[in-house]
Amino acid sequence: MKRYVAILVCIVLLVTLGACGKDGEQQPAKEVVESIKSEEILEAANKSKDKTTDENQVPNNEPNNDNTTGEDRMTTTNVKDTENFYGIEFTADSDIFARIKGKSYKDDCTVPLEDLRYLHVLHVGFDGQPHEGEIICNKAIAEDLLEIFEQLYEAGYQIEKIKLVDEYNAEDEASMADNNSSSFNFRFISHTTKISKHGSGMAIDINPLYNPYIKTVNGNLNIEPANSTPYVDRAADFPHKIDETDLAYQLFTAHGFSWGGAWTTSKDYQHFEK
Ligand SMILES: [Zn+2]
Repeated sequence: MKRYVAILVCIVLLVTLGACGKDGEQQPAKEVVESIKSEEILEAANKSKDKTTDENQVPNNEPNNDNTTGEDRMTTTNVKDTENFYGIEFTADSDIFARIKGKSYKDDCTVPLEDLRYLHVLHVGFDGQPHEGEIICNKAIAEDLLEIFEQLYEAGYQIEKIKLVDEYNAEDEASMADNNSSSFNFRFISHTTKISKHGSGMAIDINPLYNPYIKTVNGNLNIEPANSTPYVDRAADFPHKIDETDLAYQLFTAHGFSWGGAWTTSKDYQHFEK
């Protein structure tokens, strides 16, 4: 009988311990942990979603490929300065200069660095989405370009690419063939010691593939870029064509730029200069 009672007590004890001791406390604790975990996962997922949105649609304020260590060497100019449309002066020890040295800023470049500005802009691409653009130009047209590019952006005007020509190793033809819009690329006018308008950063080309440079040389039609032949006929109707009805034409000319499409000895439909 005593033995039976003892076994019974043991069973009761075991059942009590089992219910209240371990599982009774661990179960809620496990639930809390799981609930924290799922909150963390949700938060992380949201963060990564936000980041994706930021990268694809709402570009940040930092120039591409340019770390912030150069910030103390750069001075924001007094030109138009907003979160997404701004100009920066840069020096020979800056990250920006490192990107253009020996490329668009060739070794024989006679344009002082303090005359150039790095511009950050937004533009609507051919995909209809906002993209970041980078331009190096002369400080004399920096404010014009920031105002014009902001107006083009707000109007939804499509510009496919606005990258530094240095990303094409400063090769004009390669940049134009890729329909890249760009400004500064140091060079003298052929067989002269005169700096070209792009050489001083006083000119810019817009959607060059659709708006070629056309010149007749010794009776032969010279077209740049070479792959822009389908867009030589300016009477034809196609998208991204710059003519007098085009918004870029209207904004640039309103800011005092002249248009290469109005030249007589050659035509440079992509080109605006001051
Ligand atoms: Zn040009």
